[in-house]
Amino acid sequence: MPADSNRIEFDVPKGTLVVRHAHCPKGCDLMDPEVKIHDNPSIHLVLKHEGKKADIHLDPVYGSHENICEHEVPKGAVVELFCPSCGMSLTDPEATCAKCSAPMFILHLPKGSFVEACQRSGCPHHRVRIVTGEQMMQRLFDEVGMDSYL
Ligand SMILES: [Zn+2]
Ligand SMILES: [Zn+2]
Repeated sequence: MPADSNRIEFDVPKGTLVVRHAHCPKGCDLMDPEVKIHDNPSIHLVLKHEGKKADIHLDPVYGSHENICEHEVPKGAVVELFCPSCGMSLTDPEATCAKCSAPMFILHLPKGSFVEACQRSGCPHHRVRIVTGEQMMQRLFDEVGMDSYL
């Protein structure tokens, strides 16, 4: 991602935000109300590890990692993630993890914001980026609340 002055990165405390509207880059809805984690619809992705594909349901609570996956991925392994509907890779070719330098994947959120997370199993690094002008920024911390951006 190129530097963009309208892009704000948040360091959000664990467990305070829940992703409710994640999409792939082509706009497919990734939320799965059939599989719930912590009573919230999970984020359904396809994981690829050593040539094997498996369904994975990500914990939508930001900072929580109670993911459900039928394929066990050893800690430290780097996986690839895809949209289960259109098969598009969710890897961001321009981003690498600041902690372990593995590739990152992106979940698109409403209003042009997104969540980025490390593709290395067990690496907790991820961040929320919110694209906004000054006015939206104001609203963010006023009546709207950050929940509406996720
Ligand atoms: Zn898709
Ligand atoms: Zn990492």
